[in-house]
Amino acid sequence: MSRKQRKATGAPTPETVSTMVRSRFAPSPSGHLHVGGARTALFCWAYARARGGRFILRIEDTDQKRSSEAATQAFFEDLTWLGIRWDEGPEFDGCGGGEAGPYRQSQRLDLYRRHADQLNAAGAAYPAFETPHMLEAARARARDEGRAYRYDRAALKLDAATIRRYLDEKRPHVVRLKVPDTCQITIPDVVRGETHVSSAELDDFVILKADGYPTYHFAVVIDDELMGVTHVIRGEEHLGNTAKHILLQDALDFRRPIYAHISLIFNPDGSKMSKRERDIRLRREVKRLGLQVPPETGVPTAQPVMPVDQWRRWLADKDQQLDLESARSLAEALKIDLPEIDVEDFRRAGYLPEVMMNYLALLGWSPGGDIEKFDREFLISHFDLDRMIKSPARFDRDKLLAFNLDALQAMSTEEFSDRLRAHCLRYHRDFLDMLGNEKFALFAAANQQRSKTLDDPVRSGRFFVIGDEEVAYEHSKAVTKALTHGDPNGYAHLKAVEPLLKELPHWTIKRLEETLTQYANEHAGGKLGKVAQPLRIAVSGGPVSPAIFDTLAILGRESVINRIRRCLAMRERDTK
Ligand code: GLU
Repeated sequence: MSRKQRKATGAPTPETVSTMVRSRFAPSPSGHLHVGGARTALFCWAYARARGGRFILRIEDTDQKRSSEAATQAFFEDLTWLGIRWDEGPEFDGCGGGEAGPYRQSQRLDLYRRHADQLNAAGAAYPAFETPHMLEAARARARDEGRAYRYDRAALKLDAATIRRYLDEKRPHVVRLKVPDTCQITIPDVVRGETHVSSAELDDFVILKADGYPTYHFAVVIDDELMGVTHVIRGEEHLGNTAKHILLQDALDFRRPIYAHISLIFNPDGSKMSKRERDIRLRREVKRLGLQVPPETGVPTAQPVMPVDQWRRWLADKDQQLDLESARSLAEALKIDLPEIDVEDFRRAGYLPEVMMNYLALLGWSPGGDIEKFDREFLISHFDLDRMIKSPARFDRDKLLAFNLDALQAMSTEEFSDRLRAHCLRYHRDFLDMLGNEKFALFAAANQQRSKTLDDPVRSGRFFVIGDEEVAYEHSKAVTKALTHGDPNGYAHLKAVEPLLKELPHWTIKRLEETLTQYANEHAGGKLGKVAQPLRIAVSGGPVSPAIFDTLAILGRESVINRIRRCLAMRERDTK
């Protein structure tokens, strides 16, 4: 069967099958990289690595309104953070380069135009001059008459002289593909098997827009061919598009890549994992608190979270989505966490890239057996498309968190400390500066075993860096009980240990442990907790902190004494 004869049968070409694997990830850069996109990139990358092939990154930035250079750079960052490095593509941090570029679609407009001309000349495509207004009216008519809209091919009825005249007048026009009237299009897919679509279901779709930019379908097909892509691994949402791509490949006499459409990612409750979840979470909290438009919002922050107009619009329209910055500030003001959706969210929340890579690989693929935890070398040596899972993948946050905890605990103390420092440098510079270098190693060591993420120590450790007079005492049962129950009660123990701590010859973990243990043996029936818990509350404001000796050692003598005195003074004030 020649390539021409193979038209729309969907059979891969022999040259595709025998050549070296060339896979590609082709994001449209708007916003940050979603975990779904990251998973696609991971599979494309792992497949190329597993087969000794090449992994290409192509930036699909032809939607000028939605794409931005900042988003493109953020995609590069997110991918390299995950350890996904590309052999060909835009250059970034030692990745990229290659012979098949440029790798940004916005720099390939000539190529698309030339191919459109070629199809026009062959009669396989044609210019169409309807204005957006005319098309909208035709769509509205179809809606009113309760039928599906299809382009009526009016442009095909124009005579050659009229078309020539319109073109000479530079009348705005699109280019449409002439879709064969009735042919069966077979979409071969290594994950989903074959799907069949009748060309009668498709109308003559646009391949070149009036502004000279290609549509996604046209650009993707040309680039996959010219870049020698052998494997297209992408989300299942593109399966429907593939019929159009196959028609275009046949019209242009292009090779057919091998397709693998991978399942969507859902939340455990079956809802789609999308950026809308941020707004859903925020709206739930706003509703719970009964917040209104400012100034009556009661949002507990000195800074207005967002302009009143924006707030008003968002409250009024449930479908409105806040931009990431506004969503983050509102969440901060409301003291809630936003669900992580983008790779950057997970990085910010303190997940490790190798854990993300491991967990993402399990969303739609399985190495077999009971193996769930693996590193990149394992993934590269085991990854194959025939172990892909067709059913939708469930994103289980608890499981990811458990993976992260295990990985953090398994690290050496030095590694944990280095990675915590890197995390703080990126997201909590102020915390790092206030804590100071000297205390950092102690702080990291004290937190390792209790941290599920690299962000946990900072979140729970704010009390280490605030002024002694800023410690706010929590009003909870646990606090009241630790301070007031028993005889002697917590306050009495605080009063008794204060001079011991003040006079302690050396402020070291060892000395603190010896002194407080001895005190507990003599005055608290050997129960260290009776002394440790009031101390913890006095210095941190609440009942949770790293081990008490570590906590005191990190804070230093002066702060500890100040905070104990403050706690005792507060009691005297309260009981007056
Ligand atoms: N730019 C498309 C997207 O981000 C790529 C689809 C494809 O891989 O063909 O969804």
